[in-house]
Amino acid sequence: GVVTRFAPSPTGFLHIGGARTALFNWLYARHTGGKFLVRVEDTDRERSTEAAVAAIFEGLDWLGLKSDDEVVFQYSRADRHRAVVEEMLAAGRAYRCWMTVEELAAAREAARAGGPALRSPWRDAPPPNDPSLPHVIRFKGPTEGTTLVDDLVKGPVTFNNADLDDLVLLRADGAPTYNLAVVVDDHDMGVTHVIRGDDHLNNAARQTLIYQANGWTLPAFGHIPLIHGPDGAKLSKRHGAQAVGEFADMGYIPEGMRNYLARLGWGHGDDEVFSDEQAIAWFDVKDVVKAPARLDWAKLNFINGQHLRQADDARLADLTLKALQAQNAELPADAAQRLLAVVPQVKEGAKTVLELAEHCAFALKVRPLVLEEKTVKQLTDETVERLARLRAQLGAAPVWGVSELETLLKSFAESEGVGFGKFGPSLRGILTGGAQAPDLNKIMAALGREESLGRLDDALA
Ligand code: GLU
Repeated sequence: GVVTRFAPSPTGFLHIGGARTALFNWLYARHTGGKFLVRVEDTDRERSTEAAVAAIFEGLDWLGLKSDDEVVFQYSRADRHRAVVEEMLAAGRAYRCWMTVEELAAAREAARAGGPALRSPWRDAPPPNDPSLPHVIRFKGPTEGTTLVDDLVKGPVTFNNADLDDLVLLRADGAPTYNLAVVVDDHDMGVTHVIRGDDHLNNAARQTLIYQANGWTLPAFGHIPLIHGPDGAKLSKRHGAQAVGEFADMGYIPEGMRNYLARLGWGHGDDEVFSDEQAIAWFDVKDVVKAPARLDWAKLNFINGQHLRQADDARLADLTLKALQAQNAELPADAAQRLLAVVPQVKEGAKTVLELAEHCAFALKVRPLVLEEKTVKQLTDETVERLARLRAQLGAAPVWGVSELETLLKSFAESEGVGFGKFGPSLRGILTGGAQAPDLNKIMAALGREESLGRLDDALA
């Protein structure tokens, strides 16, 4: 079966480019009934940090992308990588190279100036008098012919072997290099599909040669274009959030983010909003587009909003509470209950959890509310008397629900022989203290009978 993997280098946070790569691998594994694996490529000991490992897993967990098997840490496999290099040495597929720093610099300079790709003079020479001198082990690559990467996204890409230098497999300190470790790990993990950023396309040619040198089955490669900013330039800080954690803090929800990320470089006709099940049913690597995708905040907001309104109310109330706590908002003791009551009334209009929090603010105010001057001015004797009559009707309402309250307000306006304008704005001001809020019947349903009547009594007293 299919085995995909996401192989982040833990040198920073999980950015949305990486998250999308992980998602595509996950979707493809689910689509094919295969496995999705995670491998932490922590061979670069200087740049890899524990904090980055934690941040990457936090991001993946939040997105709901879990490895189907135990996570592999690449550095822990260094002995295996070295063993493979020993085998390659023995088979004449690799060689020891004692080039000095100066010789290397000169050879690189020559290659840059248009000369042949680097081949060490030690490729075919006998070892020096003292073979224990510091040396690296290089791949003994073919110098003629071509190497084909038949990419699922890019199509067939041909490389001239003469242009591919004899890359280092083991450094002088015995540390395996990236291209070697990736091939050995992907082989050992049974990876069948390597789906990753197209900045690795050139590596695919080198890696192909290493597979062939070992007589191993090649995986299929799919190199996906990078994500660009809205202006078409490479994604950078000035385009706004990049870390998955930032998107979470901005109030996006995982399913909205998954839907949006899936559409970055892939799509299913005109379908914009879809479920995980649909994405899994539809996704195929070969449908990933060749051109870089552009981040589109308006679209992200729209898609997230669509998922938000379908989300479970209790979960949204909880997310809203956490968002408010993170803002150090002053909250009543029963904030959680209040949110549970108000979320269903306001979630339609919110695109993010942060917007939802704003829309819920009216319900979290503590009596007596501070009224806006506008409201105070509207409270003429006539209005106060009218609201008192409304108060009596509300107090006697048999059922306190959205539609019952709507009916009650309508018939009240009729019985008073006035339009809503004669009491609606002041009532709204009294119930919300001027905060953003939905329709009056929804406001009252969200606040509940006791709180609604209490706020009204406070104002009429
Ligand atoms: N560790 C590499 C990176 O983070 C990915 C290597 C791969 O996917 O083959 O760019």
